[in-house]
Amino acid sequence: MAALLEVGRLTVRFGGVSALSDIDLAVREGELVGLIGPNGAGKSTLFDCLTRRCEPQEGSLRLGGEEVTRLPAHLVAGRGIARTFQNTALFPSLSVRENVMTGAHRHGRAGFWAAALGRAVAEEHRMGAAADVLLDRFDLTRYADHPAGGLPYGVTKRVEIARALAGGPRLLLLDEPASGLAPGEVPALADLIRQIHYERGVTIIVVEHHMDFVLALCRRIVCFELGRKIADGPAGSVRQDPAVISACKGMAW
Ligand code: ADP
Ligand code: MG
Repeated sequence: MAALLEVGRLTVRFGGVSALSDIDLAVREGELVGLIGPNGAGKSTLFDCLTRRCEPQEGSLRLGGEEVTRLPAHLVAGRGIARTFQNTALFPSLSVRENVMTGAHRHGRAGFWAAALGRAVAEEHRMGAAADVLLDRFDLTRYADHPAGGLPYGVTKRVEIARALAGGPRLLLLDEPASGLAPGEVPALADLIRQIHYERGVTIIVVEHHMDFVLALCRRIVCFELGRKIADGPAGSVRQDPAVISACKGMAW
């Protein structure tokens, strides 16, 4: 299968710190890849480059063969890249349903003339219906009209994923989706992500420190340490790689 994402020799420096050094990574269409590594390894920085929140000094990013390295940030969603954040970033005063709809808006087709002609109403309706399907799928219907601020943390994590999916991404980047969850909530979230991946065929890269979670989900694991890729392969061999075990000492295996 062709690579959906091709990262070539990606290098990011913040002052004297190399957050990413010469990273090569190819992810095939439909893969679900786990990205692990200790704090400061550069995992979030890779997502920041892909969503254009961060400017790499060197290297290239290609999605479906198209160069996206210098794409303006507001065009990222339209190219089919969506993410969640390590610390959730919802609009606290908007309802859960509205938050999910904002994920679709960035992808909406209704421009000025469509709005002027009244077609935006139909678009709004379509987005609302799509949001309701996601709310149901993520067991969030009962929270649909609640403001996102003040909801239990585990619920906000699910809202973030639903919002990222609302734009129908080709590549979904999940940054620590299980962090801060109660231990009992973690296997259910892994099941949900596995099902969404299967149903929608979306390509996913998931960053996580819970090894059980990564091993339950991903056949392939990539490990970063201090901005370098130190392992990339089948989950079974990466988890036994001495360099990975030493780099990820603090992680729950
Ligand atoms: P991870 O997600 O693997 O924990 P990060 O990608 O967040 O790691 O960080 C990689 C390195 O880059 C760290 O040393 C971090 O302090 C640094 N870093 C990340 N973002 C910034 C930034 N905006 N400004 C300065 N340094 C940063
Ligand atoms: Mg991070």
